[in-house]
Amino acid sequence: MRFTSQMDNQQFSIKDLGRLKQLCDEAGMKLTQQRMEIFKELLSIKDHPSAERIHRRLQKRMPTIAIDTVYRTLATFDELGIIKKLYVSNDRTLFDVNLETHHHFICSRCKTVEDIYWPDFDKAELPDPVAEIGTIQSRHLELHGVCNKCANEAVEV
Ligand SMILES: [Zn+2]
Ligand SMILES: [Zn+2]
Repeated sequence: MRFTSQMDNQQFSIKDLGRLKQLCDEAGMKLTQQRMEIFKELLSIKDHPSAERIHRRLQKRMPTIAIDTVYRTLATFDELGIIKKLYVSNDRTLFDVNLETHHHFICSRCKTVEDIYWPDFDKAELPDPVAEIGTIQSRHLELHGVCNKCANEAVEV
């Protein structure tokens, strides 16, 4: 598959773009301008955006982009393994560009989701009842609390 040269002036790293190209190629998918832009947005946000947030940001330079396109593209990226769909409390669906094993600290006030690394937890032996239920494929921990930023703001008020 050939890719258009218009992507040459994009600002994200060749390594990441290369990965996207390769994965699209393997899946027999065209790397459209919209897919490129959504990918670029994911990389620039760096935390855990929702489809709606990506859509709002993209609208500034692509006023005609439909929210459905964003939903579909994110679902495709999830299938390709470029991003991970992240279900957090309150029925929010967010997307994670960090594919390493990690966990999340979720602020109950500003709703920010921060990455947490906890190798001991990842390696910890599972309680016996788990084996009776089945085999696990991954483990993900959600820590809920108030982030320091919000806590400090509360003090100032
Ligand atoms: Zn907060
Ligand atoms: Zn994360």
